[in-house]
Amino acid sequence: MPTTSDPACGNIPFSFELYPPQSDAATSALHATILRLAAAGPDFISVTYGANGSSRRSSLDVLTHILRTTTVDPLAHLTCVGSSNAEASQLIREFLDAGVRSFLALRGDPPEGAREGEAFLGDLGSAAELVQLIHRVQAEREPYRESVIPGLPAARSITRERNKVRIAVAAFPNGHPRSRSTAQDIDTLLAKQAAGANLAITQLFFHADHYLSFIQRARAAGVEFPILPGIMPVTSPARLRRILELSGEELPSELAIALEVEPTKEGQREIGIRQATALARELIAGDAPGLHLYAFNQHETVLSVLDGCGLLTPTSSASAPSASAPPASDPA
Ligand code: FAD
Repeated sequence: MPTTSDPACGNIPFSFELYPPQSDAATSALHATILRLAAAGPDFISVTYGANGSSRRSSLDVLTHILRTTTVDPLAHLTCVGSSNAEASQLIREFLDAGVRSFLALRGDPPEGAREGEAFLGDLGSAAELVQLIHRVQAEREPYRESVIPGLPAARSITRERNKVRIAVAAFPNGHPRSRSTAQDIDTLLAKQAAGANLAITQLFFHADHYLSFIQRARAAGVEFPILPGIMPVTSPARLRRILELSGEELPSELAIALEVEPTKEGQREIGIRQATALARELIAGDAPGLHLYAFNQHETVLSVLDGCGLLTPTSSASAPSASAPPASDPA
């Protein structure tokens, strides 16, 4: 777990999100990025699934690479749109067999051209049902973890504990685009908790009070698990346009104008880092349980944000952002 010398930020966990690369060059760049991110000591590194046309194979390749080359826990995003129960169970088994023990259970978006209400969902209608299925498959596969207590007679030396997996779910501080009301977003989160989720990660947002008031409403309604704020440093006007299109978030006008009027790429990058760092510091001051950083397959920007929050140890900062690794491809 990272430590810090910055008393304003304390000692809170952080995590990163990556997406599967789409070419050989992007793959080797991503491997270099993973080493840099792992050196910072994240709680986990998550890998998207199905987004940008990625397949189960390409997600699994990144997850197993993290398992093989680092000590960081890889967290697999899984979506259930379009799968039968049997297909979804097989997918979960495949990830468990590869050594993955942490998941982000998602419903996923309708496929291109399909509309809400049409028959594209498959057997599982919501992320909550996928949470239940992950628990069920995992309990069938590996119900108990056994450990031997030295020095006790043989009959009493083996303890059996129920094996647990970490199952995160998505949360939407500004509401899911499909949601009918803010109350429905909280109800959905409660349903995910009842299904056995033990963590949530939010959609990106641009103002700390959006997250903090969402947390207040969620806690008042009985949501108990930690809800990690998702933070994305936005380093170009093109990226801002793309993520607003994908997330349905409202345009953050101040940031949009600052990025538009700044003529240099370096200047735009600095604006993105400054905005994300200020947001992260406000969230930490508001008692966020951690930070989840959308890394866009690059280490420099997110590590600069953590550095700005005082969340990198001297060793991890020293080995972090010198940009000798080639940047991975940028989808924006
Ligand atoms: P759910 O929670 O099941 O539903 C989403 C919302 O829809 C609910 O809040 C509710 O208001 C509404 N809703 C649900 N059921 C109904 C109903 N029956 N009638 C009316 N309204 C309903 N997508 C990918 O494809 N791959 C990824 O790797 C990926 N990673 C993500 C990571 C994070 C942190 C986040 C926040 C999103 C990610 N997404 C990803 C996007 C996600 O799949 C979409 O936002 C999807 O539309 C909703 O998924 P969910 O798990 O929140 O669904």
